[in-house]
Amino acid sequence: MHSTTQTKPAHPGIHLSPQEMPLLTLEDILALRGNFIGAFVTAQSGATIDVENPATGARIAVLAASGAADVATAVSAARASFEEGVWSRADPSFRGRTLWALAMLVRDNAEALSRAEVLDTGKPIAEARLDIIATADGLEFYAGAATKVFGQTMPLPGSQMGVIIREPSGVVGLITPWNFPALLAIAWKAAPALCCGNSVVIKPSELTSLTALAIAHLGVRAGLPAGVLNVITGSGADAGAALANHPGVDVLAFTGGPVTGRKVLRARAELLRPALLELGGKSPNIVFADADLAQAVAGAAFGIYYNQGENCNAGSRVLVHEDVYDAFLAGLEVAAKRIRVLPPLDEACQMGALISAAHLEKVAAYVAIGVAEGARLVTGGERAIGAGLEGGHFFAPTVFADVLPSHRIFKEEIFGPVVTVTKFASDDEAIALANSTEYGLAAGVWTASLKRALRCVHEIKSGYVWVNTYNGTPVEAPFGGVRGSGFGRDCGMQALDSYTTWKSAVWAMSQFDDWYKDKN
Ligand code: NAP
Repeated sequence: MHSTTQTKPAHPGIHLSPQEMPLLTLEDILALRGNFIGAFVTAQSGATIDVENPATGARIAVLAASGAADVATAVSAARASFEEGVWSRADPSFRGRTLWALAMLVRDNAEALSRAEVLDTGKPIAEARLDIIATADGLEFYAGAATKVFGQTMPLPGSQMGVIIREPSGVVGLITPWNFPALLAIAWKAAPALCCGNSVVIKPSELTSLTALAIAHLGVRAGLPAGVLNVITGSGADAGAALANHPGVDVLAFTGGPVTGRKVLRARAELLRPALLELGGKSPNIVFADADLAQAVAGAAFGIYYNQGENCNAGSRVLVHEDVYDAFLAGLEVAAKRIRVLPPLDEACQMGALISAAHLEKVAAYVAIGVAEGARLVTGGERAIGAGLEGGHFFAPTVFADVLPSHRIFKEEIFGPVVTVTKFASDDEAIALANSTEYGLAAGVWTASLKRALRCVHEIKSGYVWVNTYNGTPVEAPFGGVRGSGFGRDCGMQALDSYTTWKSAVWAMSQFDDWYKDKN
């Protein structure tokens, strides 16, 4: 990358080596203040939000509580940069090199970013490191994509020429949740929007804004022109709603729950502007009788307990064939009890803290509902206790058996470490159960039969199907839902569809009347 910059002048930031750019420390990230609009600026009201470490309850940072005026400033900055063309009309290879430089900076600063993510979310350090590396991977994928946003040509009669040009949409607003903060905001949403030449305003969750702020700050070092990547912090009700309702936002991409998704969609409908929604899920993980049972047990545990179950594609409904039901359940109980719930910075931690006290209460309430509905609580169902867990929102890995399709815990997204296990007798029944909720985000299938797996891939209504594996989401593969899980796709080259518009241009290569004579 550095050698190509000798022949094409690029922003000076790209020429800096890591040695010339001091690495961020965790303390630097925790001290970030204000919104990032080309530089850090304080919110106009001066109001702030305290950020809590979910694993201890301690205050770790103070963020700007932004409102509509701050959002308007960020959207204006994004618009100005877009119209100036410093990024939108720049050589696509410059955009690619800049995103690649940002990926390098994310890799250089990966440990501090990972630790900040742990303090913000409560997730295990090992998983936070995977998130940050995947964030760099995503930036690299879209760095490569920047020079491949191709148009098309049209075969037209006579001596006409027709081209279909792919243009950036303009100012893109991104509203993202707290469960994978850097990964979703930067790699899955900002990177594809940026590679096409858009300018971006991100509103991360108020609970977890630190890594988006830090990476936007690194963006300037990488060479992103001011105003191209902006981050506004603040509550969803204030900053989020202001972004969704802003007429200067050409495309709004949202990841979050269906209740908020509906509000965002209503706001965009009023403006007659497009929105993409990545919503929740209640994903089935189906274990057929011919599956490798040990693998299926491990995959089911990983499918639900990864990221404390705070995962939109969590395999929260395990469907098991009656012939292997008891053996599977016994294995899953052992696996759940073995999970190490520890302070998340402990290298041995496998499951950390839930995001907040309110969220833990929601998860506990669903456990009570499950018990009241008559499902069998096999293990967990209560706070996890142990050394170092006292001040945090830790919940034990939980398994419910004998769950019926009529139960609320079968149908509603819990977004925590709670899995339901349901028995089926035939392939038809398994597929019908898989498709029996309003969601359609992801699914898992465990079977030795290629034919059975292929049938499931075709007949399960979801945007993703894993066969004999679970949870992997390579940036190359489009990710998103159908039905109540939303529409539009993150990741893959398909994400570029969300952030570009097509323009048709037709012109005559001869006299207009000559062509007319040719045709008659
Ligand atoms: P959420 O409450 O819907 O919040 C998502 C984002 O919307 C946050 O930034 C939030 O800000 C903001 N927001 C809240 N109210 C708003 C409003 N009135 N207008 C505009 N923005 C508003 O969801 P969450 O609790 O953070 O995340 C959990 C949900 O996200 C789950 O349902 C999960 O399945 C889903 N999810 C889906 C995917 C996917 O790819 N399909 C990925 C991850 C998560 P504040 O947090 O600051 O209030």
